Amino acid sequence: MKSYTGKILRVDLSRGEIAEEETREEWLGKYYGQKGLGFRYLLEDIDPTIDPLSPENEVVITPGIFGGTIIPNSGKLAITSKSPATGTICDGSIGGTIAAEIKWTGYDAIIVKGKANNLVYLYITPDKTEIKDAGFLRGKGTRQTELMLKKELQDDEVKVLSIGPAGENLVKFACITSELYRQQGRGGIGAVMGSKNLKAVAVRDGKDITVPDMPSFLSSLREIIKESVLIPDNEFLLSDGTWPFGDWMLEAGMIPTRNFQTGISPTYERLRSELKDTFKKGSKACVSCPLACGNYIEIDGISFEGPEYESLNMTGGNCQISDLKSIVQFNRSIDDLGLDSISIGNVIAFVMEMTERGIHDFGIRFGDAENYLKLPEKIAHRQGIGNELAEGVRFLSEKYGGKDFAMQVKGLEIPSYDPRGAWGMGLAYATSDRGACHQRAFTPTPEVIMNEIEPYTFEGKARLVKDLQDYNAVKFSIGICDFWGLNLDLLAKLVNMSTGSNLDSEELTKAGERIYNLGRIFNVMAGFRRKEDILPERLFTDPLPEGPAAGKVLPKGEFEQALSEYYRLRGWSEEGIPSKQELEGIEVDKEAIEKFEKYLSSTRYRV
Ligand code: SF4
Repeated sequence: MKSYTGKILRVDLSRGEIAEEETREEWLGKYYGQKGLGFRYLLEDIDPTIDPLSPENEVVITPGIFGGTIIPNSGKLAITSKSPATGTICDGSIGGTIAAEIKWTGYDAIIVKGKANNLVYLYITPDKTEIKDAGFLRGKGTRQTELMLKKELQDDEVKVLSIGPAGENLVKFACITSELYRQQGRGGIGAVMGSKNLKAVAVRDGKDITVPDMPSFLSSLREIIKESVLIPDNEFLLSDGTWPFGDWMLEAGMIPTRNFQTGISPTYERLRSELKDTFKKGSKACVSCPLACGNYIEIDGISFEGPEYESLNMTGGNCQISDLKSIVQFNRSIDDLGLDSISIGNVIAFVMEMTERGIHDFGIRFGDAENYLKLPEKIAHRQGIGNELAEGVRFLSEKYGGKDFAMQVKGLEIPSYDPRGAWGMGLAYATSDRGACHQRAFTPTPEVIMNEIEPYTFEGKARLVKDLQDYNAVKFSIGICDFWGLNLDLLAKLVNMSTGSNLDSEELTKAGERIYNLGRIFNVMAGFRRKEDILPERLFTDPLPEGPAAGKVLPKGEFEQALSEYYRLRGWSEEGIPSKQELEGIEVDKEAIEKFEKYLSSTRYRV
């Protein structure tokens, strides 16, 4: 099929083996190239109950159908694994140019398993893959790692995925970095790389990607970019990146502040204005993206891309840090150490609240910038207090108390959208395949940004969440960035232009359901049921104290009803288990269904 390479690369680090095999073409037609293909290979290859940090776990790297083409907003790379933070299946994406570079090496997927004896890196070119010693990179930050690898390989154009000390030290929210500032942040897949003694993957291109009819491909793309990408609705990304999301959350009174104690931030407006008006020096884009949402700033000699909205608020207002220079310094440090900003912002805010409430003294209170700046190093190197903070909010709350205000779902810390101000987001966090994630179903757009539907109700939210999850599942599998809200007719047209297939939006809707169910199959086999699809108690019991959403909590009874409705819409049981009939209806492949049925009927998994 055009636009696929037909080949995958397998690396077994325990055995030191490297092999190529043909891509399972029947899976490409069902699960497409990024998230879906990653899910399918992971379900095939590993037992979902394994320890995520064991050699048996895999890291599946998939550049997607559009990777390496000039289709707009197609510069994301998916990385999938079993998450050490949650124990669920977990895919995340990373921008820049790495997806294109991997595709140009000639692979639809790179799958790494095992554990090397010493720290290593992979060097992948179209002609050869090598497992090389990375001892000289031990303990190095991601920035230095990338620069040293380019020097070592005598190639400035080589593209790199790497982990920092956090990944090497198996921090549960360690991320993967590329091109200095781009991260696959969530779920701790950086720690999975660390558990394999895999410091980095360096790739160098060489092969072309073809499409069936180049002249018509180019003229259609010109039209599509004009009509659908560079339009007034998307202009804010070019001028401000993701900062306006903070403005919208502030207006709705749902911007997490002081560990989600309130939804009004006294500092956000000032911080983002300072960033934009004084320190922004330019915009940065992923390959083939005309929207360029990356904000490039310079502040007191620090050059940096970001912090984007999530990072700015979770490591700023949520910890009551109001000094921009400290926030920028903190974010530059966590990027280099390889730590996820959303999770670390939650972890620090949680221990600040624990200290202030007198439950356990972690030696840091809200607004304490001096100690806040010391924590990234301590966490990444697991020094002192950092050793336990490296385990995340769920662990800390189980050991020291404060479970009710441990802002996490399934072990993944909650992003910068308080669901008490847009109730659909609560259901979206609870049912997301990788724990508290805003990218599976972003309901604040219709609830509070566009004001299209009532935010303070669960009525209609089960359908909304399911539809958005399915839409994003197929969009992220084909390989289009979050920020282009194209409809499925257009997405089908792009796939057809690239592969010569004849898809329509109906098939893509079904594919979204299929892929989302594949994730649920994995998670059920890993032991997840309804009781894990739950939110922290604070969201049910503590009303927001001020602002437009003052007095709002999520009513637990109504949340439970919405969850049941969501399961019914998905054809899942009251326990959240997909039925065989449903899986056959959406054409999940036979082997996957048989595997699931076998698990369900075994003693271990009987329900
Ligand atoms: S909108 Fe931003 S994240 Fe998305 S492809 Fe463009 S630059 Fe990358």
